[in-house]
Amino acid sequence: MGKKIESPVEKFPGSVTLKDPIPLSACVEWEAALADCQPSPCSEGRKILAQFWRTPEKERDVVSAEYETHFIACSESGGKCRVGLTDTAAQMRMLKSVRACVETWEVPAFDLANPPGSPKIARSKFIGWIIGEIATIYNEADGDPNA
Ligand SMILES: [Zn+2]
Repeated sequence: MGKKIESPVEKFPGSVTLKDPIPLSACVEWEAALADCQPSPCSEGRKILAQFWRTPEKERDVVSAEYETHFIACSESGGKCRVGLTDTAAQMRMLKSVRACVETWEVPAFDLANPPGSPKIARSKFIGWIIGEIATIYNEADGDPNA
């Protein structure tokens, strides 16, 4: 079982066979990676954010500024508020979980164990493509109960 896909990125030609279905253990990895890429508030931060959503739209600037102040202080003091990852760091983080979803990797120019960083645009395109393909396998069942 598996889903074979062809790289659409000229700089990194080849094919990849993704596990289909994706094993549950790989899904756990995948979701952990996604969560790491997102910013995450601490309990105090969450309170401010909840307040933000309760505040009428026109008055949200004040709460938004309050959160920003908290967030900076909190993450600088080693608190639980976490900034998300930058695009490049997020790609690297996601690639670690991509490995768990791959059955065979036949892209000689792109070593999954030691991924190339350049050229930047081709690299981003390639990683975006593989992430999108995995997300499609992962999410498909949500749309159709019979899928
Ligand atoms: Zn915080």
